[in-house]
Amino acid sequence: MQIAVASGKGGTGKTLVSTCLLRVLGDRNSVLIDTDVEEPNAGVVLMQLAQKTTKVSRLVPEIDLKSCNLCGECAEICNFNALVVLGDKVLVFNELCHSCGACSYLCPLRAIKEVEHPIGVIEEAQLPSYGTLLTGRLNVGEAQSPPLIKATKSQKATSTLRIIDCPPGTTCAMIESISDSDYCLLVTEPTPFGLHDLELSLEAIEMLDIPGGLVINRWQGEDGELAALSDKTGFPILGRIPFSPELAEAYMQGKDPLEAMPSLRGILTDIFSQIKGVLS
Ligand code: SF4
Ligand code: SF4
Repeated sequence: MQIAVASGKGGTGKTLVSTCLLRVLGDRNSVLIDTDVEEPNAGVVLMQLAQKTTKVSRLVPEIDLKSCNLCGECAEICNFNALVVLGDKVLVFNELCHSCGACSYLCPLRAIKEVEHPIGVIEEAQLPSYGTLLTGRLNVGEAQSPPLIKATKSQKATSTLRIIDCPPGTTCAMIESISDSDYCLLVTEPTPFGLHDLELSLEAIEMLDIPGGLVINRWQGEDGELAALSDKTGFPILGRIPFSPELAEAYMQGKDPLEAMPSLRGILTDIFSQIKGVLS
């Protein structure tokens, strides 16, 4: 089973929920995949250093100017403006290239070959008893995260429980992260802040035809506008994690949140039971 844990905006407690879900439900065959590749922090929360690192690249074009006649066809073909013929050169903008391969395939003089462009790494850490942590970490300055997210998610595909700690928002990175999931949990707060972003995230989940539900973090006795949003969209509120300074302090200090708030175990177990109910 693959559960994506996402949020409309950052800072809502998405990583708290995904790491605690793994702590509660995980076994040696489980995996937590941190696809928030621009600023992954599940490893910090779990206080785990990587034991293995794998480099990830994507293919970008390289022009052989000796064979090229500067016809400009490749620049016309490229939908992403990653190629420009300027004077006696063909400039390649790797950041804009989407590695589709069209230019090398269609160059009439076969003057383009595809070469590896490093985009980041996948870090792997074995956790004490509840599985493996996989972290995608994007290189500084690299603009495209989906290829790295895809590569990170392709690891340990046969794990019985896969939890994806997704990037916030409704970017391509979020869509790539939640795609192929059996269920998507949206972590949110009972405040008007980020409500619009949350609605957009729910629309994205709906568009991908993935069942989903809400988890309210820092709950203070009322669901506020989230109750109306749940009614309107049909995404149920599966659980509420009460506001707790003790939990926040333990989390910030890298301690086990389940010890700071023992009731959290029951809340997450109940959320998982509801997910299993929907999927069965
Ligand atoms: S299509 Fe080929 S030959 Fe034409 S400009 Fe591009 S690389 Fe050069
Ligand atoms: S591989 Fe595709 S996206 Fe990249 S430069 Fe060539 S045509 Fe453009």
